[in-house]
Amino acid sequence: MKKITIAIDGFSSTGKSTLAKQLANHLGYVYVDTGAMYRAVTFFAMKNGYIAADYFDKETLINSLQFIKLHFEYNSNVGFAEMYLNDENVENQIRNMGVSNNVSRVAEVSEVRAKLVEQQKEMGKEKSIVMDGRDIGTVVFPFAELKIFMNASPETRAQRRFAELQEKGQQVTFEEVLKNVQERDYIDTHREDSPLVKATDAIEIDNSNLTREEQFQKVLDLVTATTKSL
Ligand code: C5P
Repeated sequence: MKKITIAIDGFSSTGKSTLAKQLANHLGYVYVDTGAMYRAVTFFAMKNGYIAADYFDKETLINSLQFIKLHFEYNSNVGFAEMYLNDENVENQIRNMGVSNNVSRVAEVSEVRAKLVEQQKEMGKEKSIVMDGRDIGTVVFPFAELKIFMNASPETRAQRRFAELQEKGQQVTFEEVLKNVQERDYIDTHREDSPLVKATDAIEIDNSNLTREEQFQKVLDLVTATTKSL
């Protein structure tokens, strides 16, 4: 089968990473979670006191970008590549509500985006990649052979994220999670640099009423059709 680039974009908690992981494992492709990269930069900024709920020292973060080294390392126990910040595994720490509450403000900064997009483009040079995020089909891989745009209602998405966080033992309320999902949607779609929009050639999937398996099968059919048409 011909190797392709698969770009998956969409709103927060639409199940992009679940789908991307399933596809990558099935196809033997590399999976890259670009949200993890923005989260890792945010975690770095929080640790160094550059950002908090009511404060953001953008200049210092921009000047410190040269000291941020990100890489992924595949962990066969979990079946995906985990995020490393300056050689420290930060996979768990970047998933908490503190990081979720600050990440969209960090992702608005053009210098941050430029650094991460450059690294993402490099990772996709060999194709055989599934990358998920907000600007993959529009900015990172505008020539991807297959682009998927995922959507679901904010309530459905918040419910999924809430269940995930509860499973991890994090103390949050459903209202807090819904508010975070709505705030990130707003910032992600309204920012000046690379806002979240559906690429004109992306196929939209609303998975509010689809099981994981149905969704996976649907996209796998699209992958087969795309590779056949090349
Ligand atoms: O995918 P995830 O929800 O973990 O992404 C966290 C945040 O990172 C998003 O809400 C968005 O602000 C930012 N992001 C982005 N561009 C990407 C991936 C994520 O701006 N390609």
